Amino acid sequence: MDYKVLYRKYRPKDFNDLVGQDHIKELLLQSILNNKLSHAFIFNGPRGTGKTSTAKLFAKIINCTNNFEGNACNKCISCLSYEETIDIIEIDAASNNGVDEIRELRENIKILPSLSRYKVYIIDEVHMLSTNAWNAFLKTLEEPPKHVIFILATTEIQKVPITVLSRCQRFDFQRISNDVIFQKVKEIAKKEKINISDEAIIELSELSNGGLRDALGMLDQLSKLSDKITIGTLNNAYGLVTNKDIKEIFEEYKNREIKLLIENVNNLNLKGANSDVLLTKMLDFLLQELIKYKISNIKEINNLEQLIFDLEECYNKKNKYLMIKTILLKNVEDSVENIEIENRVKEEKNISREIISDEILEQINLETFNIRINNSFVNANLNLKKEFIKKWDELTNYFCAIGETKYLSLLKNTKVEVVSPTNVLISTNTYNNSVLFNLICDEISEKCKKIIGDNIKIICLDEEQWKKEKSKYIKNKKIKEYSYIEEPVLKNNTKTINIATDIFGEELIEIK
Ligand SMILES: [Zn+2]
Repeated sequence: MDYKVLYRKYRPKDFNDLVGQDHIKELLLQSILNNKLSHAFIFNGPRGTGKTSTAKLFAKIINCTNNFEGNACNKCISCLSYEETIDIIEIDAASNNGVDEIRELRENIKILPSLSRYKVYIIDEVHMLSTNAWNAFLKTLEEPPKHVIFILATTEIQKVPITVLSRCQRFDFQRISNDVIFQKVKEIAKKEKINISDEAIIELSELSNGGLRDALGMLDQLSKLSDKITIGTLNNAYGLVTNKDIKEIFEEYKNREIKLLIENVNNLNLKGANSDVLLTKMLDFLLQELIKYKISNIKEINNLEQLIFDLEECYNKKNKYLMIKTILLKNVEDSVENIEIENRVKEEKNISREIISDEILEQINLETFNIRINNSFVNANLNLKKEFIKKWDELTNYFCAIGETKYLSLLKNTKVEVVSPTNVLISTNTYNNSVLFNLICDEISEKCKKIIGDNIKIICLDEEQWKKEKSKYIKNKKIKEYSYIEEPVLKNNTKTINIATDIFGEELIEIK
C-alpha cells in the first residue's frame, strides 16, 4: 500500500507551502538571505513533520541562480532541472549504513556539481549509520569541499554521536498542530474532490499525531475505501476512539450507569482501539470538564480530580484496559453520596463485578487468598487487634511523611477486623478497592513494616465478603480448630507485581 501518493503530490513547492515549522523556515530564510550557509545541518524531529521536504526545498533555493527573497525562481536552469537533478542526492542511511557506502560518498563528493552551485547530500535516518561509518564520515563532515552541503535528518537525535552534532547546525522540527493539519487536509481533500466530513478530518488530524505525511497517507487510504468518508469509515479502518465515545463514557460515569460504562470500554477494546489513545482522550476530556467546574464554581462531580489522578497513573503500563475499567468503577463507587443512588449502584456493581472479576481473578492467587483468611483467625485476639488499630491509624500520616500519597485513597476506607500474631484481615467499602488493595498489599506491608512490624501478611475483603467470612468463622469455630497454614511460594508473583506496577507506578516495587 503506497501511503505517500498524496504527500508526494503536495510536497511544498516553496517555503510558503511548508506547513507548521515557522521558526525553522524563518531561520533558514535568514541564512539564505544573508548568504551565511553552514555546510552541515541536522534536522531532528518526529516522522512526517517535513524534514525531508524542507531539506529538498532548501537545496532547491540555494541552488537557484536568481532566488528572490528566499524563494526559488522556478525559471533558471537549476530550478528547471530540479526534479531530475543529480546535484541533490538523497541517501537512506537505514539501508546504506556501512563503511563502504560512506567511502563511496567520500569519493563522489569530490566531483563538482553538474548544473548547480552546490551538491546537497540529504541523509535520512542518519542515526542508523554504523560506528565505523560514522568514523569514516566524520572527517568529511568536518571539512567538506566548498561545493558540498550535508543535511542529516533523524528521528532519534540521541543516537547521533556528539562529535557529529557539534559539527552541524541543528534544527528541531516539532509535531504539527492538529489545527494546521486539519486545514491542510481539508484543502487537499477539496482539491482532490475527496468527500470527507469535518468531523472525520478532526479525528484524522488527532490520529496523525502531528505528522502531515501520516495524515495524508490516511486520507489516501480512506478515499479508496469509501466515496464518502465519515467517522464510521475511520472507525472501521483504524478502530479509533472517537470524541463521541469519550462523551458517552463520561455521561455513563457521571450518571453511574456502571453496566453500560463497562460494556462501552469493553467494546472499544474488542474493536481494537488503542488504549493509549483512549487514555489520552479521556484525560484531555476530563481535564476540560474539571476546568469548567472550577471556573463556574460548581461543585466537582463524582471524584473527577481523583479519577484524573488515577488514570494518569496507568499511563504507559500493561493491562491498560483492565486498569481503566477498575479505576472507573472504583471512582464511581467512591463518589456515591445518597442512598437512592447507592441502591442502584449496588445492583449494577454486582453485574460489573461479574464482567471484570474473571479478568482480575486471573491475576490473584486464590489459594494464598484463602490461606491468609484462615491464618488471620489463628490465635487472633482482641488485644492484638486494639494495638494494631493504633498502628494502622498512624499509617496515613506515615505515608504522607514519606511521600507515598498514592496509597492514601485505598487506606481511607479500610477497617481492621481480625488480627493474629502473623496475619491481619481488613475490610474495605467496595469490591474494587479490595482487589486493588490485595494486588499491592505485600508492597504496602513492606513499606510500613517499621510501623506494623516485620512479616505481617495482610488480606483485604470488601464488606460483603467480610460478612460471609465472619459468619463462616462463627459457625466453624464450634466444630474445628483453626491451624496455621504455610503460604505457597507465589507462582505468579511477577505477574502480580507487574499489575501493582501498572496501577501505581514503578517505585512501588523497589523493596528495600
Ligand atoms: Zn531558480
